[in-house]
Amino acid sequence: MSSAFSQLGLCPLLLDAVEKLGYTEPTPVQSQAIPLGLEGRDVLAAAQTGTGKTAAFLLPIFNNMVTFWGEKRPKGAKGPYVLILSPTRELATQIAECAQSIAEVTGFRVMSVIGGVKYEKQVKGLAAGCDVLIATPGRLNDLVKQDACSLKNVRYLVLDEVDRMVDLGFWPSVNSLCRQVTAKHQTFLFSATITPSVEVKSDLLMNDPARVEVALKGQTADTVEEYLCPVSFRQKMSLLTALLKDQGPERVLVFAPTKMETDSCARRLENEGLKVDSIHAGKPQGKRDKALRDFRKGKIDVLVATDVLARGIDISDVRYVVNLTVPNPPEDYVHRIGRTGRAGEAGRAYTFMSPDQLLQLREIEYFSGHLLEIYDVPGFEYDQDRLLPNPTRTAKRVVRRTGRRLGFRR
Ligand code: AMP
Repeated sequence: MSSAFSQLGLCPLLLDAVEKLGYTEPTPVQSQAIPLGLEGRDVLAAAQTGTGKTAAFLLPIFNNMVTFWGEKRPKGAKGPYVLILSPTRELATQIAECAQSIAEVTGFRVMSVIGGVKYEKQVKGLAAGCDVLIATPGRLNDLVKQDACSLKNVRYLVLDEVDRMVDLGFWPSVNSLCRQVTAKHQTFLFSATITPSVEVKSDLLMNDPARVEVALKGQTADTVEEYLCPVSFRQKMSLLTALLKDQGPERVLVFAPTKMETDSCARRLENEGLKVDSIHAGKPQGKRDKALRDFRKGKIDVLVATDVLARGIDISDVRYVVNLTVPNPPEDYVHRIGRTGRAGEAGRAYTFMSPDQLLQLREIEYFSGHLLEIYDVPGFEYDQDRLLPNPTRTAKRVVRRTGRRLGFRR
């Protein structure tokens, strides 16, 4: 049994679940959020990706449910009692997997409801009853409107990646779902970055929340080495091929700006003989799942993706991330490079910058508080018209021996 976790106040049953998950030491966000969650406080947490956010809300919620209902499911259950909203299908599935492992120890029933899957099965599942529901907002909203699900007994509400959920595209469905949660409930808002609009919405949704801030605004994982690759627009694809040769093509995540560029980049790499697949919102869910599965299992080496993948998805052991263009807004940069260097592993991120993207780069450097170090692929013949942001700069991050970033020299 894990003593470090038991000091946080989790009950023996949940400590069994922790052991099953294979965790021995709580991560910083877990150390802070779990005791607050167990006290019944609303929690607003800013934690960078890969910090163990999922267990930081699932463990106290399950613990509180066990305290209230005992180990078995409530008799004549009229759940869901827990509602977890996630902006992407992949993240919802990942949360559901973690919840399922915990639920096997506690006996609660977990279900996920995401878009891109047939309605019938979900309607049937909801009719059979569930205690913990993980959903993407659009699909759940449809199902609630069809009376396939009632949220009136929800006692625990979680919004994950909440900075994405307050976007205009999402907020109407999220808001409408939150308003259906009328019983007294405990709320958890988790987000990599807490933006002013997250603050505003948290005032609406939460009651005197305890704040947990593990990552400061714009902070990137300490274990990621970040490089800038200035290149002319024309040479991007050949530079990508050269970089993959230089750094090795295994377990690489490439972010492309659009669906079309994602597909064409994947095709080009395939023609180079690499094992590659792509994932974006225009692909059927089945194909998206397969690409992710194959990448996780190592059946493919390179996964090319749009931002669908940038947030919250946990793929272990991504050796490095390549941004084919400078991400915009800068928050996206933090999310994307959060795919590598997860849970203490070392990782690298290479951001390609064409001459028209200098402003976006400056925004990222301002937002994250450090300069990106220039990396040139040895032997690659760069066109003269690439733009070196500041040819004289000797930007080097000063890294403590523990790996924590302190600042940078100019
Ligand atoms: P998350 O930030 O929730 O996506 O978690 C990132 C990764 O860290 C997942 O693979 C988790 O299984 C793993 N993880 C979470 N908490 C711990 C922990 N206390 N010890 C080791 N790994 C953990």
